Amino acid sequence: MAHQFGIHSGYFHPVLRKWQQSDTGITPANLMYPIFISHNPDAEEEISSMPGVKRWGINRIGDHLKPLVASGLQSILIFGVADDSTKDEVGSVADNPEKSPVIPAIKLIKHTFPDLLIACDICLCTWTTHGHCGIITGESQGIDVEASAERLAEIAVNFAKAGCHVVAPSDMMDGRILAIKKGLKAANLLTKVSVLSYSAKFSSCLYGPFRDAAKSAPSFGDRRAYQLPVGSAGLAEKAVVSVVTSWKMCGNRFREDCIAQTRTQNI
Ligand SMILES: [Zn+2]
Repeated sequence: MAHQFGIHSGYFHPVLRKWQQSDTGITPANLMYPIFISHNPDAEEEISSMPGVKRWGINRIGDHLKPLVASGLQSILIFGVADDSTKDEVGSVADNPEKSPVIPAIKLIKHTFPDLLIACDICLCTWTTHGHCGIITGESQGIDVEASAERLAEIAVNFAKAGCHVVAPSDMMDGRILAIKKGLKAANLLTKVSVLSYSAKFSSCLYGPFRDAAKSAPSFGDRRAYQLPVGSAGLAEKAVVSVVTSWKMCGNRFREDCIAQTRTQNI
C-alpha cells in the first residue's frame, strides 16, 4: 500500500511547481480563471447574475482566451454547462464524447495554448436532471454515496484522458477522492493529473449566481445532505481530515499529493 499514489502529480507541470513553491504572493501564476463552457458551440451568453461573465461556446473560447494568455494568464478552471435536454439521473452527458461540451474544450484549449494549465470542475449537479451533486437513490431521494463516488471518478478519468492537468471535485461526496485516485491509477494517469479537492464546503446561498451560471441549481430540496452547516469549523476540520485520511490510508502524508490544500467554498 505504501506510496500507492505517490506525489508526482502535485508538481509535474510548471504552473503546479510554482504553486508548490509559494502560497503567499498574488501573481498571474496563482490566479485561476474560471470558464463556463456552453453546450452551444457558438455561444457568447451573458450571465445575468454575474455581470461581465459569459458562457462561451467552443468556437469562441479561443479568441476570448488569447489576450488573457498574452497578458500572463497561466491556468483556467473549466465548468461545463449542459443543455437541459441532455441531462439525466447520472449525468451521462458530462463525459459523453459526442455531447459533452467539456471534452472538446479541453482538447482545443490544450492544442491552442500548450503552456496553459487546464483544470476541470468535477461534479454531477450541472449534468443531472435533479441538479444534485451526487446520484439520488430510491424513494427516500437520498444520496447513493458509493455510486456517486464511482460516477465522479469516471468523469474525472475521462476528463483526464481528454488532456486536462487537474481534476477538481467540488461535490462533497464521501470517498470520491480515493475513487478518483484509483481511477487515475488504473488509467496510468496518476503522475500526469493532479486532484484539486474541495475538502470543506458550506451549504449557502452565496453561490446562487454560480448555480445560475452553471445551470446547476437543485430541482428539489437543497444541498444540506452533503454540504456543511455555515460556520461549522469542527465539521469542516473533520471533512478535511476525512479527505486527508483517504490518502494516508494509501501511504501518503498530509498534503503530499494534493495541489490545492484545503479549499473552503460554497457552491
Ligand atoms: Zn455540484
